[in-house]
Amino acid sequence: MPSIKYCWIFITDRCQLDCDYCFFSSKTRRQDLSLAQARQLLNILPKDPKTEFVISGGEPLLRWDFVKTLVRDIKKIRPKSSILLQSNMLLLTEEKMRFLRCHNISLEPGIDGNPESTARHRKGTSAQNYRLICTNIKKALRLGIEVFPTMTVHPQETRYMAKNFGFLSSLGVSRIDVHPAFLAPWDAASAKDFIDNYRHLAALSCARKRVLCPCYSRPMSYGHDLVVLPHGDVLANWTFMAFPKAIRDRFFILKLGTDGTAYNEAVYQGLLAHYRALFKNRTVSYREFSNYSAALAMRLWKRTRPKAGLRRYRDICRAVKNIDQTFLMTPRHAK
Ligand code: SF4
Repeated sequence: MPSIKYCWIFITDRCQLDCDYCFFSSKTRRQDLSLAQARQLLNILPKDPKTEFVISGGEPLLRWDFVKTLVRDIKKIRPKSSILLQSNMLLLTEEKMRFLRCHNISLEPGIDGNPESTARHRKGTSAQNYRLICTNIKKALRLGIEVFPTMTVHPQETRYMAKNFGFLSSLGVSRIDVHPAFLAPWDAASAKDFIDNYRHLAALSCARKRVLCPCYSRPMSYGHDLVVLPHGDVLANWTFMAFPKAIRDRFFILKLGTDGTAYNEAVYQGLLAHYRALFKNRTVSYREFSNYSAALAMRLWKRTRPKAGLRRYRDICRAVKNIDQTFLMTPRHAK
């Protein structure tokens, strides 16, 4: 197995919210990963110290005992692992925060800015629980936990980007990941607006030492992700999750079952060949890798002959509800 950039563990597909840009399509809202499956995964992971773990869902705090056990298991095998917990923050308590602090776990809350922007697309966010999210972010920061919010921007919201970014900065966070909404209908004008506003934020954040998170634009070494779904299928990148279940089911590379791990050898070797070609003689950022994965999945699904590079990428993206986000930040855009 080549190097693993992120090991995403989606421990449940249950969630109290219903965000319209959630990339976990086909959620059943009743699946939970078992401890036996999680341990199978940890046993077969390559011993790459650079792998970052992301514990996610659905809402992982709906399974707090499971989170604690999983964290302890990861730390037992790799005491220095970095672990990020993605959460909507609604069930966070001081006791949970102390556990996170003690195990050096960062938090990634989803919050799109001020209450109006957040409630518009994160369905289920009431005024009361919005206040709770903000309070919990401030409390976690006070306890010394690193908190890196993801601010998702919808095509109709690009004009509020600076205001929302300013609001999140005022909570005291030092890093904000600004993302265009996945699977949203971006057209050329709204994409341009996103880029213009993003450049503005990049300049602002440099001046104020509040930085946009550039981590997805840094070069990565040849490899892929392990994305563990609650029913035990393992994918090579999170973009495969966005596809309808029927398509997604074709691309699992591993299956963590009750009676052991099954490899999907043909699919895995096929994907590796494509990734090897992508990384050959060039530097690839995680963003490019993810975009390439989305294009690749569609290309394979349609059983068309793979073409060089990303030539048909835009056509393919249109077919999957405008998944195309090639306008996302690159070092060139951030200048
Ligand atoms: S909080 Fe996260 S998992 Fe839940 S619906 Fe929103 S994006 Fe999806």
